[in-house]
Amino acid sequence: MRKIIIAIDGYSGCGKSTTAKEVARALGYRYIDSGAMYRCVTHYFLEHHVSLTNPKEIDRALRDIHISFRLNAHGQSETYLNGQCLEDEIREMRISESVSQVSALPSVRHAMVEQQRHMGKHRGIAMDGRDIGSVVFPDAELKVFLTADIMVRAFRRQQELLLRDELVPLDAIADNLRKRDLMDSTRKESPLIKPVGAIELDTTHITIDEEVDEVIRLAVQHMFVKVKPGAKR
Ligand code: C5P
Repeated sequence: MRKIIIAIDGYSGCGKSTTAKEVARALGYRYIDSGAMYRCVTHYFLEHHVSLTNPKEIDRALRDIHISFRLNAHGQSETYLNGQCLEDEIREMRISESVSQVSALPSVRHAMVEQQRHMGKHRGIAMDGRDIGSVVFPDAELKVFLTADIMVRAFRRQQELLLRDELVPLDAIADNLRKRDLMDSTRKESPLIKPVGAIELDTTHITIDEEVDEVIRLAVQHMFVKVKPGAKR
């Protein structure tokens, strides 16, 4: 059975991370949360007061930023910035409020895309984000594009924040999602789009389990596709 790349893109709060994580677990693949990488950069920029209009400061900061993913004792992937686990901190609203400005910077994107491609060198990964199927891995065997109604997405995000003891009103979350959707899909550098060849899945009326099952079904189909001798993969 061949190893494939599963690229899961879509709007904020569609269940991309949960789906990619569960699909990776089911297939024994590596899971990479590319949003967590942009969140780490944002965390570093805020902590170190990096000016978003100063290219030299940005480049210096990017050289100092080392992001990695490690499995915790429960087998869950956690995000580390320069050796420190920031899995919870990077989900806070203060990070969500700034991340789309930071992720729109070309030098930030170039640095992250390079690392993401390196992580997918041996295939066998599920990565979620906004430009995975369009820019990072345009040759991914399976591309999924998730959508869902804005209030359903806001409610799901609110539940996630509650689990981290952060109570944020639904309207504030919906507002943040709308702003990020707009910034992410209108930015110049690799905007959020439905990648060519992606399968669109509207998750408004399905449960996360159904969402995961559907992506696993699609992935298995692609894993069993026979590749002609001499073909690239
Ligand atoms: O997926 P998550 O909501 O954690 O992503 C946070 C932000 O990171 C997005 O709103 C977007 O601005 C940025 N992002 C991106 N490209 C990706 C993943 C995330 O620009 N591949």
